[in-house]
This record gives sequence, structure tokens and C-alpha cells, in this order.
Amino acid sequence: MRKEYFSIIKFPVLVSFSLLIITLIFFFIVLGSYHRLGLSVWGNVLYTILFMVIVILIGTWILALVSTHKKIKPLWLRHYLSWMLVNIYYPLARVFGRICFQKMDTIQESFLYFNNEIVVTNYQGMHSSNLLLLLPHCLQSSNCKIRINNNIVECQECGGCDMAKMKALTKDYQIKTAVASGGSLARKLVNDTHPDIIIAVACNRDLTEGVRESWRYPVYAVLNERPKGPCFETTVSPAVIDFAIHKFVQ
Ligand code: SF4
Repeated sequence: MRKEYFSIIKFPVLVSFSLLIITLIFFFIVLGSYHRLGLSVWGNVLYTILFMVIVILIGTWILALVSTHKKIKPLWLRHYLSWMLVNIYYPLARVFGRICFQKMDTIQESFLYFNNEIVVTNYQGMHSSNLLLLLPHCLQSSNCKIRINNNIVECQECGGCDMAKMKALTKDYQIKTAVASGGSLARKLVNDTHPDIIIAVACNRDLTEGVRESWRYPVYAVLNERPKGPCFETTVSPAVIDFAIHKFVQ
């Protein structure tokens, strides 16, 4: 239970510690320079700019933490936070995680969990049917005679894999569903449909890449299960997908 809790909070903890360490290093360098030589005009300018960057980084991070529990209303601010999250804080957590010998997949899972919290807080109950359920191709049974290309409608609902359950959910909620065999196809499907929200199912690596590339869209990530190894006959809990769709559609 404790281990599970730490794996959820790993990403915010890594980002918070890395910001703390950057701030401490900055103050040690400034104080060291000041005591040795005093500060030149250019030194003053440089340290002032660096100080402002650190203040912006810390201020935005506090706002990101707040946004996991409090709705951010201005759309531009949501986009700014999303950009900072995928382009600044995630790389920061990765670097600091490597230094601390943390496993990459656990950092990614924690990052996805953190992003989900923000998406749910900001978009829950939006009553939108313009929702895209993005499924991985490996969800389909390898014995299936049908080749599902993008459209889940092609599934004959024999029950041989989870595609049948996903198709049923699609019909129930009247939402768009797409099956993607890779990142570039997923990108194209998102750009073609312009959804209000994306519920994406994949492994931690693909989901992290997807969330980072589609930072303009709110992406709720659902990890697939891989009982037969990666990229082969994966599964996903229909209850989890139902729960996620319900949050945004109702
Ligand atoms: S449920 Fe659909 S995709 Fe899965 S094996 Fe049956 S027909 Fe094929």
C-alpha cells in the first residue's frame, strides 16, 4: 500500500525536489560570487534573469499542484500549464529520477496519474459527446479474421477480445472511437476529429508520448494490461473505461 502510494506521488515529489535543489544551487552560486568578488553589472542582470526564471518555474508548479484539485477557468492558463507540464516538469522529473535511480516506467505512470487528476478536475461533467476513445491495435485478438483499420465498427462482436466490449460502450455513449496502430496514426486521428477530450488506452510509454504530443488536448490516460507481454493481445477493463467516459459525458 505504501509502495503503491509512493509510485502515485513519485512524479510530483521528483519535480518538487528538483526545483528545491535548483533553487539551493542558485543561491549558493550567487552568495559564493557575491562574497568573492561582489557582483558586476552583467552578473546582476544574469542572476536577476535566472532568479525570475526560478520564480516562474516554482509559481507555475504550485499552480499545477493546485490544478489537481481546483478547476482552472481560463483556457489559456490550462494550455500554459499543460505545456509546462509536458515540456519542462516531465523532463525535469526524468533527469532527477535517473539521478535517483528511479525506474522510468514508474515515473511515467505517476506522470499519467498526475495528468489525469488535472484533466478530471478541469473537465469532469462537461456534458460533451465530442469525446474520442483511442484504442491500441494490440487490443485485438491475434486470431481475429477481421482487420480493424481505425474503425471499431468493423468488429463483429464475437467476444474474442476486449474490442467487442469497447464497441458496446461506444454505442451506449454515442462517442467516437478509433483504433491506432502507432503514434503517427493516433496523431492523425486526433487532428482529424478535434475532440473535446481524449480517453486513450495504451502502455505507459505510448501514453506518455501521446499526452506530450497532444498537450493542447485534455488526455485521460488508461493503462492497458499486458498478460501476454507487450504489444500482444493486451486487455483493458471495460469498467474503467465506462467510469472514465461517464465522468466527462454526463
Ligand atoms: S471481438 Fe471483434 S475484434 Fe475481437 S476477435 Fe471478435 S470480431 Fe475480432
